[in-house]
Order: sequence, then C-alpha cells, then structure tokens
Amino acid sequence: MSMWSALSDKLDEKVLEDLTSNVKQTQDNLLEEILTLNANTEYLRPFLHGSSDKDTFKKNVPVTTYEDMKLFIDRIANGEPFDVISGTPITGFSLSSGTSGGKRKMFPCNNKYLENLNFIYCYRSFVISKYIDGLEHGKGMVFNFCVPEHTTPSGIPVSAATTLFFKSDYFKNRPPYWHWSFTSPDEVILCSDNKQSLYCHLLCGIVQRDEVVKVGTAFVSTLVRVITFLEKHWEEICTNIRYGRLSEWITDISCRDSVSKILGEPNPELADLIENQCKQKSWEGIIPRLWPKTKFIESIATGQMAQHIPTLEFYSNKLPLISSSYVSSETMFGINMNPLCKPQDVSYTFLPNMSYFEFLLVDAGDEVEIVDLVDVKLGCHYEPLVTNHSGLHRYKMGDIVQVTGFYNSAPQFRFARRGNLILSVHMEITTDQVLLNAVTHAKMVLESSDVMLMDFTSYADISTTPGHYVLYWELKGKYNNSIAEIDNKVLVECCYVVEESLDNFYKEYRKNGSIGALEIRVVQQGTFDSLMEFFITQGASSTQYKTPICIKSTEAIAILEEKVHARFFTDESLSLNFLS
Ligand code: AMP
Repeated sequence: MSMWSALSDKLDEKVLEDLTSNVKQTQDNLLEEILTLNANTEYLRPFLHGSSDKDTFKKNVPVTTYEDMKLFIDRIANGEPFDVISGTPITGFSLSSGTSGGKRKMFPCNNKYLENLNFIYCYRSFVISKYIDGLEHGKGMVFNFCVPEHTTPSGIPVSAATTLFFKSDYFKNRPPYWHWSFTSPDEVILCSDNKQSLYCHLLCGIVQRDEVVKVGTAFVSTLVRVITFLEKHWEEICTNIRYGRLSEWITDISCRDSVSKILGEPNPELADLIENQCKQKSWEGIIPRLWPKTKFIESIATGQMAQHIPTLEFYSNKLPLISSSYVSSETMFGINMNPLCKPQDVSYTFLPNMSYFEFLLVDAGDEVEIVDLVDVKLGCHYEPLVTNHSGLHRYKMGDIVQVTGFYNSAPQFRFARRGNLILSVHMEITTDQVLLNAVTHAKMVLESSDVMLMDFTSYADISTTPGHYVLYWELKGKYNNSIAEIDNKVLVECCYVVEESLDNFYKEYRKNGSIGALEIRVVQQGTFDSLMEFFITQGASSTQYKTPICIKSTEAIAILEEKVHARFFTDESLSLNFLS
C-alpha cells in the first residue's frame, strides 16, 4: 500500500462526509484492526488472551495513565522488542511539549501516526479552502520548526511529533495538492537551530510578501513571539534585502543556500518599504501592513491559547483567526469544520479514523462512566481515552472537552481545559481555566491603560506562611513598544481583580488569612522568550511549545526570578470585600 493510502488521489469532500456519517462502524472497525494487530503484545495478552473482541476489551483492559505505560515505553527505548506494547514496529518516539505538568512524556510512534497527521494537515486545509477563495495561487508563510533529534539506546529517533513528521517521507514527498506552497523552503523548516530558522522564515516571507495569503503557526503564542522577534530584527532583515546579502550568522549551509536564492538581488525599494512600516511607533495591524494580501491566520487559539487573542487581533487588525485542528503527541483528534466562526466558538469534529476514542464522564462522583464516541451527550464534559495504533490503550489524555453539537453523526467538542493543571497553596484548587478567566478580567483593566499582557505564568509560593499565588507578567505598551513606567495603581487593581475572579473557596481562605495576598511580578521584556528557550533546551519543540500556565520547575522559576523588575500585591484592606 502506498503511504497515501488514507487519502484518495486528490482531496475529496466525500471522504469527510463518509467518515462523519459512519462514526460507529468506522470506530468499531478501527478497534478491531488495532486489537488484531496488538492482542498478543506482552501488555495486552493477559487482558485479551489473543481476542480482538470489543466487549472483552472494554471489560478487561484497564484505563491507563502515563505513569502506568512509562515502564513499558522505557523498555522499548532501551532495546527490547516493540511487541512489548505494539504489534507493528515503533519507528520513533514523540516527545510531548510536556511543559504543562513540568514533565516530558515520550510516546511511541509509527507510520500510522504520521499518516494520520498528514490526513489532518490535508483535510483541515481542504475545509478552509471551501470557505476562503483564491488561496490556490498564494503562499502560506508558516512558521514550522524542527528540534534536534536524539536516539534511544536502541537507536530509535526521539523528537517532537512535528519534527518526526517534517523529517519523514510524508512531508518530503508530499504531493502537489498537499498544501498550498510555503514561502519558506523545506531547508528552513528542517534547520534545527531555532533562531536561524525563525529569521529565515521571516526573511523569506517578507521577500515574497505579495504572494502571502495565509500566516500560520501551530499555536498563537508562537505567532506573538514571531512578531516580537521581528521587532528586534527588522532592521537587519531590511539590510539583508537592501544589499541582497544574508547575515553571516546564518551558518546552516542548506538554509543559507536556499534562502540566499530566495533573497536574490539587492532590492532597496522593498527594504525602504518594510523600513517605513516597521519604524512606525505603533505596530497595530503590522501583519496586514507587511503582508497586505493575507486573508487569514491559521493558528490554534483555543484552550490556554485564548489569552493571546486580543494581542493577536491588535497585530492583525482582526484578520480571521482559524483554529483548524486539535492534535497531540498521542493522537490526532479532529478538525474545525466551521473555520470562520469566532475564536471563542471553536469546536472540533472528532474524526473516527484517527484512533479509537472513549470518553470518561467528568464530575460523575464515585461512578466511572465511560462511553463510546457515538454515545457522548450534548453539553457534557469528558476526558478522552485514546487507543491508538502504537501501543496506547484506553489512555487518559488529561484534556477535558465538552460536547457542543454534531457534524453528521460525528460529535463536536469544545476544548474546555487541561485537566491536571492546578494551583493550590492551602486546600483550594484553582484550575487553569479559572485562572485564565481571572487573568482575562484583569487584562481589561490593563487594556484601558494601553498596556498589553504579552504572556504570563503562575506559581504557588508556599515558602512563606500563609502561601500565596504569584503571577509573572510580561507587559508591553500598545503604542510605544515598551512601557515607560508601570502604573502602581493599575497593577494593584489587577491583583485585586484576579483574586476577585477566583472561586469562593479561594476567597473564603483568603478572607480568613489561610492564603496571603496575590502577587504580580512584572518581568522584563523577552523573559518569556528565555523561558521558552530553556524548555527547548530540555527537548521541547518550538512548533508545539505552549507557555505553561503554572510552573513547578525550580530552574524555570529561577529564570523568571532573575528578570523580575517590579512587584505588586492586592491591597490587604480590599480582601475584606471578598465574599461580602
Ligand atoms: P503536544 O503533545 O505537546 O503536542 O500537546 C498536546 C496538547 O496540546 C493537547 O493534549 C492539548 O492539551 C493541547 N492542544 C492541542 N491542540 C489544541 C487545541 N486545538 N486547542 C487547545 N489545546 C490544544
């Protein structure tokens, strides 16, 4: 079978219609296929005794977490045969961005995973092209990156899932209909030096600015970072364009050769034009100003990424922002069939050919209720359990999703939250979603004084009694690219608004003194870039990187602490207002 077997010769509306209309059959067939391949692995044999029967699977195979699987995964990494957990060869290990719980997770991966990722890339673009005209002749300026790969003691490559994909034949030999073309040559994506790669992506995008119809990053936080990088490097980019000479520090040979070709002859007119735009005091609308034919931005803005929507709208003059898919290192889930909806209203239609999906009902008390994809109920919250082709069985994802509707018979889910992120200093539990909402409220206070919150994270400080919440905030002036001075009153009010927006348990404990006043530590500009670089040195992928909402790693906290330049607390007298 060719590697394109999951796709027909060209992309076809009917493929999606059939899949979303035959959810039960597709899921049952898929489970049977997975179990037939895997029933005799060391992991499954004691539960299934070689059977590929769905009922036996449901009755005997336990729900698992990463901790349960780690031992098996590590054994394969250390050289034992793949059939410890998988009936087909493990060709790579994908590292999750893993910054959320502070831990790196390593998932077995095989060609089926890459085939599925390819399917999602193709069909999400296909859906978008049904809603936006004139994309076929334009190019996408898409910031894709690879991280350095290493190998396990048994010689299997370990890298971010996207890196495994970009280095695979699926990407290298992609057929012409795969995607509209990119402004960057493949060599830029494949360059494992992040800074060189980003610089070259921008340079190629600027040189071909009249062809750019789409701007894309995996997550919106990356796009915000791309813009701040451009703020630091536009003069150098203009000099490169003016003289037709690439900066000497681009030393990756393949990158250098391919980008030099795109850069071409000296082009002082273009350099002047870009310079005129970039030296304006405000960067409001900079994306359409530099890339005037951009029709949309493709970048995930759901879940914790939603915090960056206002900043991105500022830079993009509210170009359509499309969150096109929901994917992870464990599996692909689905695509957004209504790409032009508001970023806040995005739901993902789960595709039944990706993995076998089950759903654990959230907040069901002591009862454990697990249902199939076709049996989820509108409005309910679930944690997906994944059974994939490469050795995960009934694996608890840790994400919480809510059913919002159906596309044909395929359920659609809103990404509600990451389930395991919590801040706690006493007996309260503050989930990432509650904290995000609270910060969103405080952001309105900031916005009214023309300051943007570029990124934030949090930390439960229990080094003193009572413990208290610490938020690290990186701020930036809306119209002058820096903040001249921080307004004490505004930041103190922000502390109060965050606390006021947390739940009643928090406020109760706060009022009785079990929790101390919330603190905002303002950090210097560029701090969150340093944080990202730190996580990248730990193996995180820059394509998949997400700033953790809550930090536990002492090394990461040390990076933030070094850059703190002001601290603010809720005025203690105001805490009396809580719950009054
Ligand atoms: P990784 O395995 O590093 O690619 O991270 C996967 C995780 O990113 C998922 O489990 C989600 O928590 C998050 N994620 C991926 N896609 C989305 C999305 N469309 N919306 C919100 N969060 C997402």
